[in-house]
Order: sequence, then C-alpha cells, then structure tokens
Amino acid sequence: MPERKKNSAVAEPASGRPVGALRRREFFGAAAGASLVVRQTASAAPARDGARPDPAGSSVRETLETPIADRYQVIVAGGGPSGFIAALAAVRSGAKTLLIERYPFLGGNGTAGLMTSYNGFRNQHPPEALQTVKGIPAEYIAALVREGGLCDDEGNANTYPQARHDIKNGDLVYSIGFDAEVAKVVMFQMIQKEGVSLLLHSWICGPLLDGLRVAGVLTESKSGRRAFAADVVVDATGDGDIAARAGAPFMGPSDQGDRMGMSLMYRLGGAPAGLSGIRIGDKVVRWGPGFSGDGLDAAVLTKAEVESRLKLWEQFKKMRTDPGMGGVSLLQTATGVGVRETRRILGEVTVTEQDAIRGTRFPDVVAISSNPMPSYHGKRYFFEHEGFDIPYRALVPRKVEGLVLTGRCISCEQAPFQSARSMAPAMAVGHASGCAAALAARKGVPPRKLEVRELQTLLLQQKAELRLPQ
Ligand SMILES: Cc1cc2nc3c(=O)[nH]c(=O)nc-3n(C[C@H](O)[C@H](O)[C@H](O)COP(=O)(O)OP(=O)(O)OC[C@H]3O[C@@H](n4cnc5c(N)ncnc54)[C@H](O)[C@@H]3O)c2cc1C
Repeated sequence: MPERKKNSAVAEPASGRPVGALRRREFFGAAAGASLVVRQTASAAPARDGARPDPAGSSVRETLETPIADRYQVIVAGGGPSGFIAALAAVRSGAKTLLIERYPFLGGNGTAGLMTSYNGFRNQHPPEALQTVKGIPAEYIAALVREGGLCDDEGNANTYPQARHDIKNGDLVYSIGFDAEVAKVVMFQMIQKEGVSLLLHSWICGPLLDGLRVAGVLTESKSGRRAFAADVVVDATGDGDIAARAGAPFMGPSDQGDRMGMSLMYRLGGAPAGLSGIRIGDKVVRWGPGFSGDGLDAAVLTKAEVESRLKLWEQFKKMRTDPGMGGVSLLQTATGVGVRETRRILGEVTVTEQDAIRGTRFPDVVAISSNPMPSYHGKRYFFEHEGFDIPYRALVPRKVEGLVLTGRCISCEQAPFQSARSMAPAMAVGHASGCAAALAARKGVPPRKLEVRELQTLLLQQKAELRLPQ
C-alpha cells in the first residue's frame, strides 16, 4: 500500500467541500477578494531497501486557497485571432469583459507563431464574389492597413495565388499578409479603445466549476494563483482547454481523418528578390521544419522545439551557401512551434465533411468558412461554392454550461476543421462567440438557451456576413 501523507503545512478547506461542489448561491455570494479552498494530500510509492520513496507515479492532492480576484460578465480565455475579436465583440455588445492571455501580447498563432498571413476572407478560387468575413475582423484589418501593417505584395498574392481586390477600401482579398509587430500594436490599440479589460502573462489552468457550469477561470501567474468569476466564459485557447477540463466530450486529431502537423515559422533578413515567403522589404517569413505528434503533450512539444530549432539552424547554414544567399540572416523564429491541430470539442451540432463539400447552409448560421481545405487527402481542396455555414450550435459544447467555444476547437469534423481553423474564419467565429457570450450574460440565460435570431440580428448590426437579409 502506498503511504498516504497529509501535508501539514496546508489548512483545511473553509467549506469542507471542493470548488465544484459549491452551490450557486454560495458561489455568487462570494465577493472579489474572497477565497476558495481546496484540500491537498500526497501519496508516495513505498520505499525499497531503505531508499527514499520514489514520488514518481504517485499523486498529490493539493490544498490551495485561491482568491477570487474579480468578476466579469464575460471572460475570454486566450487572446489569439479568435479570442481577440471575441473580446471586442463582447464589450461592444454591452458586457463587462476580461481577456486573459498567457503571452505578453495578443494574436496567438498569427503573432506568437509568426504565421503572418490571415487566410480565408473569401474563397481563394472562383466562386469568390462573396467576402465571407466582414464585421469586427474587417475593422481590425482596416486598422492594420491604416498603421501600415500589410506585407509588400498587395494581399500576399505571391504566397497564395488569388484574385485582386481593393483591400485599402475594405474589399478584402483571400489572404492578407501582415507585419506581426504592427499587428501586436493594433490589437492593443483596439482593446484599449473599446474598453476590454486585459490580463497578460497569465496561464489559465482550469475552469472554475459550479457543478457542470463553468463559472469563471483559475489562473497562475507571477501574482500567484487567482480565480476570476464570470457569467459566461469563451474558450479561445485553441486547444479547448477550458471545455475539456470542465468535462466536455471532444474529438482528438487521431480519431478520424488526417492530422495536421506542427511547423516552426521563421523570418530571414537580407533576403534576395525572388526568395519565396511573406515579404516586407528584404525580410521574408517562411515555413520551417515540420514535426508530427500530440500538441497537448509537454514532452512532445519539448522534443518538437529542440528538434525543429536544431534542424532549422542546419538548414539555415546550408541555405547561406546557396548562390546569392550569403547575406541572409536569421532574424527571428516563432515564440513556439506552431501547433495546427489538437482537440475539437463536441457541440450541439458537428459540422461534417459533407457540409464543407456541399456548402451547407444552417438556419442558425453565425459565421461562414470559405477557406480551402489545405491537406484534404493530401491535396489543397478548393470549394466550388462561396463557403459553408458555421451554425451557432457548433459553438455550444455538449454537457457543460456557461461556456461558448471559439476558434479552432469548435465542433467540426477534421475536413471542415482544415478550413475553419484559418485565421479569417476563426475571427468571424470569434465575432459570433463574443456576441453570444455578451447576450447570454446580459439576459441571464445559459448560452445553450440563447435565442439565435437575436444573436444573428446583433451580428448583422455589427456588419457580420451571414447571407441573411439585414
Ligand atoms: C504552422 C501553422 C501554419 C498555419 N498557416 C496558416 C495560414 O497561412 N493562414 C491562416 O489563416 N491560418 C494558418 N494557420 C492556422 C491558424 O494560425 C490557427 O488555426 C489559428 O491561429 C487559430 O486561432 P485561435 O484563436 O483559435 O487559436 P490560437 O491562434 O492558437 O490562439 C490561442 C491563444 O490562446 C492562448 N492560450 C492557449 N492556452 C492558454 C491558456 N491555458 N492560458 C492562457 N492563454 C492560453 C495562446 O497563447 C494563444 O494566444 C496555421 C497554423 C499553424 C500552426
């Protein structure tokens, strides 16, 4: 029998019950600054031959006293392209909103991952008459244009062949290449202007649970462990961290279809004319070494970082020996290796492969995805329609209440995921999830019970494209 020790340094829980067992009335009675207390006990494997007990394989039950730092109507967990737009939408829809991000800047894989091309504002090939992503995402692109944040070749046409449109007058092309540093600034400008509360440098380590209802989030940071209460939480972590930890069922990438691998993006300086990539002057962003594995496993991610960076350095040294490449320098690598695919949370409805191929229209449409599927049975698959609908029900997780999904973890099969994960549709979904969370919070209804027509009306007022009459 493993020895079970009680950690004497920690206090007994005030209520004697774990957080999840707190009744709603008690939880909402808790003011900012109040504490939740969790018990901690430790167990260790038995000692052999007088050696010290080996703790590996045993478990620790922690006792933590976690202050509730503040409460909001809406908390957006994760500041990637989808979460950033969701937070703007929630605040504009009248909710007191907090956006929490682990990095010291916003933008997710677009900035931290150095993936500097926003794809999917419309189909890449005809039919592409309809700009499928408008509303707040288009306002963000307009701000990026005003600050001079676009790449050189109008609309990234060298990287992604596409029809030209008048980007500067708001008619957006399929793919927009951008400067990650300008994007970081523009996102802060918009967050400040709209009045979103922002908390950076904070790792969201789990949901604050009231039974099966997500009632906020728990964070770890240099400030210690803190809880933030919310009427509605938007899971914008990309990986569906909040939903999964709250107990929502999900599909893993291995369950069906292909898995999209990881890649380390990098930026070269002194790049000669003609070198492919997303270019600003003589600086070019390029796709680096790929890696395959589970993007939710820290040990796999560690291996991916080490192997990819060592491999990239060897590739770079070799590249410099190529004719005309002697002057290039490795200016920057992504903050972390880019993870394309992890969990997709199961929602009230799951968008299927056939929905993507046929261009299904749903009555509860809240966004449209027209981006091609980049590795559909190994090939780039272009839609023969203007895009398939994302229904609101794909944003509402099964089983768990108080939570709205957004970005690449929404409920869809692998094929439509390949399309909707691109940053333009992910932003359109963010627009919808932010409006939905704000409406649910303001009306005091669970997201599952939200009147979809009201959500669509709000999205149309905020200039989103839904292919519905205004
Ligand atoms: C290598 C690569 C190439 C790609 N190429 C393109 C392309 O050319 N064009 C395109 O449009 N798309 C591309 N994509 C896809 C696209 O970048 C992502 O699908 C998209 O960024 C998803 O947006 P998101 O907001 O859902 O998630 P993310 O961009 O992943 O953002 C999630 C945010 O949440 C934060 N976060 C996550 N967990 C926590 C936590 N526990 N606590 C606090 N913060 C947390 C993260 O730091 C991040 O800021 C590519 C992806 C990869 C990996």
